[in-house]
Amino acid sequence: MLGSFFQADPDLRLTVGDIYLDPSSPRALAIVSHAHSDHIGRHEHFVATPATAAIVRSRLGSSLSSTELPYRQTLELREHEVELFPAGHILGSAMTLVRRDGESLLYTGDFRLRPSWTAEEAEVPEADAVIMESTYGSPEWRFPSREELGERLLTLVSDIIGSGNVPVLLAYSLGKAQEVCSWLARHGVRVVVHPAIAKINDIYLKHGVDVGPFEVWAKQSGLFTQATTSLAGAAVIVPPHLDADIRAIPRRETVSLTGWCLKGGWRTGGDHALPLSDHADFEELIELVERARPRIVYVTHGSKSFARELRQRGFAAEFLKQKPQMRLF
Ligand SMILES: [Zn+2]
Repeated sequence: MLGSFFQADPDLRLTVGDIYLDPSSPRALAIVSHAHSDHIGRHEHFVATPATAAIVRSRLGSSLSSTELPYRQTLELREHEVELFPAGHILGSAMTLVRRDGESLLYTGDFRLRPSWTAEEAEVPEADAVIMESTYGSPEWRFPSREELGERLLTLVSDIIGSGNVPVLLAYSLGKAQEVCSWLARHGVRVVVHPAIAKINDIYLKHGVDVGPFEVWAKQSGLFTQATTSLAGAAVIVPPHLDADIRAIPRRETVSLTGWCLKGGWRTGGDHALPLSDHADFEELIELVERARPRIVYVTHGSKSFARELRQRGFAAEFLKQKPQMRLF
């Protein structure tokens, strides 16, 4: 009997060896699934894919100590075997498979099964138990295909440019911005990105992901405050929280890019919205479970009702945050 394999206190922790999974505060040893800000920290030592480690260092400092673990290689770590698989969420994002005493646990982190324009395609290993996100864990969340979204984005950008305005795409600097940059650039759109995005673009390029030709917004040059013609024909990508920078763009029409805009009544303050998400929608969440074939699923990060949805489909499932200590079976 394996007994207690991990705890949620509330950070996820493998009980043997004190190995934390995406902890929210600094820990001695952590496995980091991907480099979005709510998943990283100044840990004494962390394990991550090479791309994730590079992005973490660019965000938190180059002196951080890490073990870089490429996909599908095994690492012996404090009585566990650890293996990382592509999660399809952003560059370097990983699902973590942990084996000990003949039992296995898969921690998905944020993931997406549908093909991305810039992230590695997801691979789902089988596991005895799964801890998974459920951001879009109810049936109304079904995203259009990537092809459809791509076409809609090109049409929207083209229409805005045709009307003499500047399309300003509001995209998080890591992940979504590179997706949009890559898609537009490969379809011949002139793309100008905020420096915060250019920094991440460079890391993508170093890891072999072509985000296409792009120009960097040189703020000091006054690019956005000069005549509108300096941006004529260009699409601009800016992180959504940089209000002052967004307001500095003349003749702008903003486009929010988020899965949440599918919901009726959702408001961004943007002029337009497209449901472009780097998370799994409801069907992909179900598909993850079908592919991993676990004996039990622990649901976290999102919808409590998703555990109920899984139980209705015959899977053993619980919402994780409600219990301080979990057993594998
Ligand atoms: Zn994320």
